[in-house]
Amino acid sequence: MYKVGKEPVLMTCPNCRSAQKTVVTLIPTTKTHVMAVAFIPILLCWLPYVTKGLRKAKHTCSVCGAYIGISG
Ligand SMILES: [Zn+2]
Repeated sequence: MYKVGKEPVLMTCPNCRSAQKTVVTLIPTTKTHVMAVAFIPILLCWLPYVTKGLRKAKHTCSVCGAYIGISG
């Protein structure tokens, strides 16, 4: 697994060997769900799902779609 951040990165795909920029998909984590529950009383339970800092970024190859890594 590669160390990646939350922004797309230029790298060589380990699967298809193309020099490409990764595609980032933001996915909710356990922390996102916990925050959502905490926000229910003030009707802001949707907030964690739109906050970039509370989600992990999954990187995939833009050429072949291979999974590359996930941000910590
Ligand atoms: Zn690829």
